[in-house]
Amino acid sequence: MNTICDVHCHFFSSRFLEILVASNRQHLPAAEHSTVISGLLGWETPTTPEELADRWVRELDLHKVSRAALIASIPGDEDSVGIAVAKHPSRFVGFFMFDPTAPDAGARLKRALGDLRLRGVALFPAMHKYRLDDERVDAVFKAAEEQRAAVFAHCGVLTVGVRKKLGLASPFDLRLGDPLSLSAMASRYPTVPVIIPHFGAGFLREALIAVDQCPNIHLDTSSSNSWMKYHPGLTLDAVFRQALRVGGPERLLFGTDSSFFPRGWQRPLYDAQLEAMALAGVGAEAQARILSGNFERLFPLNS
Ligand SMILES: [Zn+2]
Repeated sequence: MNTICDVHCHFFSSRFLEILVASNRQHLPAAEHSTVISGLLGWETPTTPEELADRWVRELDLHKVSRAALIASIPGDEDSVGIAVAKHPSRFVGFFMFDPTAPDAGARLKRALGDLRLRGVALFPAMHKYRLDDERVDAVFKAAEEQRAAVFAHCGVLTVGVRKKLGLASPFDLRLGDPLSLSAMASRYPTVPVIIPHFGAGFLREALIAVDQCPNIHLDTSSSNSWMKYHPGLTLDAVFRQALRVGGPERLLFGTDSSFFPRGWQRPLYDAQLEAMALAGVGAEAQARILSGNFERLFPLNS
C-alpha cells in the first residue's frame, strides 16, 4: 500500500471566512460570517480550529493519508493553522498565505515561523502584486533560510474557487506569477526548499526551466490541472513524463488542493495521478518519492 503525504490542502477555518468577507466589506456581523458564508457555499460550517483539525485527521485516516500540509489561506489566519499543527504535529505541516507588501509583514513572518512553528510561506504574487525577485521576497527567503522553512510560490493561472462562488472581485496580475523570476531568487538561497504548485499552472515550460536551473525548486502535482487546456493535446501522463525527464523523481511532490467539507480529501485526483504515473511508466521507487518520500525529506517529523 502506498504511503501518502499531501503537500497541498487548504485549511478553510471560520476565521478564514470572516477575513475573506470582512475585507470585501459585506456588512454582516463578524460572528455570523462563517455560518452565513458556509451556508451560501454549501459547506459544513467550520467551528473551532481544534474541531476542524480533528475533522481533517478523521478524513486523512479514512483515506490512509499519513501527513498533509495545511495552508492558512488568507493573511491573518496563521493562528488557525498554528492551532491545528500544535494539536496534531505528526499529521500536519503548517503553511500560511503571506503578503510581503503588508505593513506588518516582518513581524507576521517572524511570528508564524517562530512561535506558531509554521513551515511554509505561501506567496501569491499575482494576488498581492509584487515580483518574485523583489527585495521583499528576498526578506522572505532570508527568514525561510534561518528558520529552515520552505517557500511555496503560486505561479501561473490563479483562480480562487471560493472567491468566484461568492462573486468577490479578483483583480490578479498573472504576469507576476513567473517561475523564472522565482528561479532568480531561489538560486540565491540553495538550502531553501521551494515549491511551485500545479506544475506551474500554465507556465509548465517556465516551471521546468526553473527546476532545471535550481536544484531546490520542486513542483507539486495538485488540483485537476485544468491549465492543461492551454496546451493543445497535453495529457497528465505527458506532464509527469516531462517533469521527471527534467527534474527526476526527487523534485515532484504529490498534492490534491483539497479544501472544504463535506467534499473533503479529493481521492479522484489521487486516482487520476496514479493512473497518469502508470501510463508514464513511473517505477515504484520514483512513485514512492513523489507520494511521500520527498515530503518526508523536506518536512521531517520532530524538526
Ligand atoms: Zn490551492
